[in-house]
Amino acid sequence: MRSLGLSLRGFGTGAGPAQAEVRRLGGGERIRRAAVSPAVGLAVAVLVLPIPIVHFMVPPAAIVAGIVIGIRRGLARELFLTARGTCPRCGREQSLGLTGSAFRLPREIKCGGCGHLLTLEEPQA
Ligand SMILES: [Zn+2]
Repeated sequence: MRSLGLSLRGFGTGAGPAQAEVRRLGGGERIRRAAVSPAVGLAVAVLVLPIPIVHFMVPPAAIVAGIVIGIRRGLARELFLTARGTCPRCGREQSLGLTGSAFRLPREIKCGGCGHLLTLEEPQA
């Protein structure tokens, strides 16, 4: 696990401070995370098979979506454990709602206070 000092930048505003804790995933953990989505897609496909008309559209879509999401999850090497920051526009200190999602920067975030679109990124030197 590592802690990062980041910055939250809004369009037309300055930057606010942000902190994130990031956890690295082991190989087995990545494979398990990746395998869940195709399994869910397959389960959805099987569940809707008895439903007329729906069974033509939903199963292929569910299986394809499960595989695509699984590949994306398998490619994630690090996850956000926590991410907090202060909005540069309204000054609200808040959780950024990224816990458990794949770690990548920059990321677009909407402020919970003023609704302003913010970019979470590496601090500018
Ligand atoms: Zn705000």
